[in-house]
Amino acid sequence: MEGSEIRGCAAGGWLEAGHLLGEGLRLLFTDRNGGVSRPPYATLNLADGRGDDAAAVRANRQKVACALGIGAGRLVFAQQVHGLRVTGVKMGGWGKPRTVPRCDGLYTAEPGLALAVLTADCVPLALAFPTAAVVAMLHAGWRGTLGDIAGGALRLLREGLGLAPEEARVVIGPAIGPCCYRVEEGRARLFVERYGEESGVVRENDGLRVDLSLANRVNLLQAGVRGENIHRVGGCTCCDERYFSFRREGTTGRQGAFILVQEGFGGFRGAGRRGGSAG
Ligand SMILES: [Zn+2]
Repeated sequence: MEGSEIRGCAAGGWLEAGHLLGEGLRLLFTDRNGGVSRPPYATLNLADGRGDDAAAVRANRQKVACALGIGAGRLVFAQQVHGLRVTGVKMGGWGKPRTVPRCDGLYTAEPGLALAVLTADCVPLALAFPTAAVVAMLHAGWRGTLGDIAGGALRLLREGLGLAPEEARVVIGPAIGPCCYRVEEGRARLFVERYGEESGVVRENDGLRVDLSLANRVNLLQAGVRGENIHRVGGCTCCDERYFSFRREGTTGRQGAFILVQEGFGGFRGAGRRGGSAG
């Protein structure tokens, strides 16, 4: 798909999964199609500062904002440093996309704000609390998975906003699968030590493989999320050439996972809530 063929909001064919979290929100996983970047970032690279043309990244982000029905100034990205910090975001008067420094997770109770993480094999995790109209978006590579960014985010939301993990709904987005995520012995051992029988570490003829999505599912279950409220969508980013994959390509672009609260989601409509305490 050539970027020049895409006009306005016609770009897309991207994976939508908001229905798994509740009515009144959008959950969009973009892939590499529908943008204007040139190889090796072709075409919908959403990450700036990684060697792609800044104007192309701006245009690509604009296309996603358009598909979400918001201005580009309502997009909020995390800097993503493979850490565990999760930050609350409120509406501001930004005219352009904002990047929150030094964090790997974002949450908000603000309708009209799209929280994003960018990946090229790492695991995007979208969380929603329908009764409280709070959403979060997390980035979990192998460090964030072992460090349990999901459990940390759920503790933060419980302590800060009174949100019970049992109320959370979660979508685990497209990420590298155990089919392609071969790791060295030392890293595999870290997963076995942390997860034991549930580690998802598989020994194949050509080495050890880790299932990062499964490990994140275990993190969520251990934090108190109900199994029936955890969904996985999309395939392996390394197998499926619709996606950017660092493992497959090295220098490449980043796809985005976006969660957006719309009016009418959960408790927002008519309740006048803005992220205070919740039941
Ligand atoms: Zn694969």
